[in-house]
Amino acid sequence: MDDEIETPVYSPILQYPQPPKNLKPARKQVIPGQVNKTETVQTGKEYNIWYNKWAGGDREDNYSNKVKSQTRCHVRTDTGLTRADITGMKYCCLFFARGCCPYGFECEYLHVLPEPGNVKPDSSKDCFARDKFADYRDDMGGVGSFNRQNRTLYIGRIKETGTGAETEEVVIRHFREWGTIERVRVLQYRSVAFVTYVSELSGQFAKEAMACQSLDNDEILNVRWATEDPNPVQKVLEKRRLEDMGREAIQSRMDPKIVDAMKAIKALEEGVVLDEDENVAQEDIEDEPVNKRPRLTAEGAEAVPPKPGSILNADALEGLKYFTEIRKRNGAAPLIQKRVLPSATSGLALGDYGSDED
Ligand SMILES: [Zn+2]
Repeated sequence: MDDEIETPVYSPILQYPQPPKNLKPARKQVIPGQVNKTETVQTGKEYNIWYNKWAGGDREDNYSNKVKSQTRCHVRTDTGLTRADITGMKYCCLFFARGCCPYGFECEYLHVLPEPGNVKPDSSKDCFARDKFADYRDDMGGVGSFNRQNRTLYIGRIKETGTGAETEEVVIRHFREWGTIERVRVLQYRSVAFVTYVSELSGQFAKEAMACQSLDNDEILNVRWATEDPNPVQKVLEKRRLEDMGREAIQSRMDPKIVDAMKAIKALEEGVVLDEDENVAQEDIEDEPVNKRPRLTAEGAEAVPPKPGSILNADALEGLKYFTEIRKRNGAAPLIQKRVLPSATSGLALGDYGSDED
């Protein structure tokens, strides 16, 4: 896709329409039996209800991919409370996304859009609790990869009836329903658009919600994951974004004392003077050059399997407590030279995130 001609980038962030604040019990989107069970041609060995297709082959079969979806999710009317709001289940209902959940308020999964800032309990699953894979499928369909955070969808088979700008408007109007869009690119005369969401979770939801749906012209869309943006500037930006996100996620789940201790240790390592509140005096972390940033990430941190539910392993916690203690006793004496922090960030394995070039 190197020869893509980009139409002007849509710069403002597009907010999706907010669902009503006081949620009512979710409505049943379909009455059981209402949706015709179109017989899917068997192309694999077993029928996978999650994908609504036969499993065993690596490509989405041509038939199921070209039949228009009979149902579509209407966020405003379909969003509501389900059993998941009581049980604490954090994943969305796949059938809600496709507009065909017959359970409504009795559903065990959420009938709301995934919240962008909401970190799911297990990053190896998508927002529907399906396992991601190490690699993308050849056709970039399916659940996607846990090795790369992908926020961009490829939208194919668009029927263009106007200019690039008009098509862009249509694409935005349909795709903003599922989450806040960061940018949209339309490849005019090629029936293709790329939609990048602010959140990966919105992308996952939109991919299911828009699969085999139509825009304004009764087409049947082909929605896939986009391959990686080859633009080096985008790569650097993406790397930085992921690191910022990781740091925020870690800090939000950590004891503030430990965050302070980490800041202090980092400052000691770098010989930066702290002000009274232990904030790094002038050169804040934000302005660090990119290559210095993964400081807290260990070489080989990826080798440590993340423990579900805990970001810091016991050793790291002990280490941090120990250093906070020492610091209390010795004031800010810079006697700590050893790097003890590495494992602290291993839970998110940020080290290699932005660089999967193969
Ligand atoms: Zn449901």
